[in-house]
Amino acid sequence: MGSLLRTFEGGCHCGALGFSFQTALPVTGWSVRACQCGFCRGHGARTTSDPSGSLAFAVRQADALQRYRFGLMTADFLLCRGCGIYLGAQIATASGAFGIINTLALLPPPEGLPVAANADYGSESTSERIARRAQRWTPLTKLV
Ligand SMILES: [Zn+2]
Repeated sequence: MGSLLRTFEGGCHCGALGFSFQTALPVTGWSVRACQCGFCRGHGARTTSDPSGSLAFAVRQADALQRYRFGLMTADFLLCRGCGIYLGAQIATASGAFGIINTLALLPPPEGLPVAANADYGSESTSERIARRAQRWTPLTKLV
């Protein structure tokens, strides 16, 4: 009994940046998080990942890619300089590169997306944060 891998495309508003997220999970089974940090609340971000899936960010216009680091400075949060959309984030760890997507940037918006669960990671140490992301985030084909 194999699950079918599906590809979900996303992108920023002006089209300079995009992503391709592959997962075998049904949309209704996605883990959708509303991180409560100031950055994610400011964007109203609703993120997801699948450790068994695959993720690739696409940079169609190199000068549009804004990487933003804050807090423990362990991940790049990826934004479009042209249109301001927050696409997702990437991290490089000893066990590989991983990422999350902002589900609000999925085009078209998938049906059946679960209501986001609030998440607060503010008390994590640097090593705890990296370990959580390596475990829960989606393997990246490459860093951008
Ligand atoms: Zn854009």
